[in-house]
Amino acid sequence: MNRFTSSVPIYDFAILGAGVAGLSAARILSPSLKGVIIDSEEQAGGLAWQLGCKATDRCLYCGVCHGIQLRRDLGNFSSYPFDFILGQQLSSMFKENGNYHLLFKSGRSIITHSILIATGIQPFDARQVPQYGYGTFSHIYTGIEIERNLNSEGVKAFNAYQKIAFIQCIGSRNFKEKRGYCSRVCCRYALRIAEDLAFQYPHLQIDMYYMDLQLLGGKKELLAEISEKRVRLIRHMPYRVESPNGKPILLFEDNQKVNRVEYDAVILSVGMTPNPGTKQVADILRVNIDDDGFIKDYGDGITSQENIFVCGAASGAKDIETAISDGKRVAQRILSVHQYLQQVIP
Ligand SMILES: Cc1cc2nc3c(=O)[nH]c(=O)nc-3n(C[C@H](O)[C@H](O)[C@H](O)COP(=O)(O)OP(=O)(O)OC[C@H]3O[C@@H](n4cnc5c(N)ncnc54)[C@H](O)[C@@H]3O)c2cc1C
Ligand code: SF4
Ligand code: SF4
Repeated sequence: MNRFTSSVPIYDFAILGAGVAGLSAARILSPSLKGVIIDSEEQAGGLAWQLGCKATDRCLYCGVCHGIQLRRDLGNFSSYPFDFILGQQLSSMFKENGNYHLLFKSGRSIITHSILIATGIQPFDARQVPQYGYGTFSHIYTGIEIERNLNSEGVKAFNAYQKIAFIQCIGSRNFKEKRGYCSRVCCRYALRIAEDLAFQYPHLQIDMYYMDLQLLGGKKELLAEISEKRVRLIRHMPYRVESPNGKPILLFEDNQKVNRVEYDAVILSVGMTPNPGTKQVADILRVNIDDDGFIKDYGDGITSQENIFVCGAASGAKDIETAISDGKRVAQRILSVHQYLQQVIP
């Protein structure tokens, strides 16, 4: 016996996560298929719609415009050609006659043939690496904190600073902690913030400590120019920040000698980490995750479960442009599965 009443809505596809990847997939799927997009938060757009423009007197090609364009293309939520449900947490799933029955904590439920996981990422929480003093010492910031407050009183403190340092790869490229992946965006992100700060506070000396600069994608020449003219690149990874007199001091080793350099402020370039919702959805839908905690993509967004797909940053660190094109690519794959089924089961 069916465990649901006949009022349960039935869809061809359900997308979990209304970030840029999920939304761009929904746009491809919805003209031909009946679909729903569900987000656990009360607002759509994910992290991409929370990021700001980083232009100074010129565009810095940060990619945020790709998300803004998507929002313009979609128009009002009420006019979306698919059902749109916000503030819903998945609580369980069962499969019956080839369809997935999804139950949400609110008691709501739906039936769907295909599922697309697009639950994305979140910024790494710098408190998880206490050796860098975030949340303990003054004058230690994260990149995203600086970006969000670039024009506020908080960052006006930079007027009084002479010398600041960025530390790259916070939360990523750490195999010991099972976060060996590169977050891909944070080198470019840090250089753009450095350019913004140098534009607003031309007197600042900016040092950037790194192990390997990832400038792939976007305007590589522009970023190379910023790294040459605006920042002093130092190829060492500080292993600790101390603050005996209220000012941060970076400790790093060079030729087996410990160096201590004092700064007025330190900016931690936090990378991405899988959204906790990604792990929760993976457990409920019983799809495999990889060693870094992202949903395992076996190619074209295919997961370990039949008719469950993944796209965007839920399957690995991506910038906005790549997350959008991944959403579209995986949607095409889902469309072809449905078209094939319509041919063999008329
Ligand atoms: C610090 C930082 C700075 C960045 N700066 C840039 C930049 O300048 N330029 C750039 O191109 N990229 C940048 N990125 C990357 C960019 O944020 C991602 O490429 C983009 O957000 C990925 O989109 P997405 O749709 O895959 O995931 P997300 O944006 O993470 O969206 C996922 C959505 O899924 C929802 N969700 C989560 N769990 C569940 C669940 N269980 N059920 C239902 N819904 C759920 C979330 O609420 C969210 O709406 C940055 C990332 C970080 C961390
Ligand atoms: S790409 Fe980024 S810096 Fe350039 S205009 Fe768009 S949001 Fe601003
Ligand atoms: S993008 Fe740069 S800062 Fe970010 S993890 Fe990769 S190498 Fe490190």
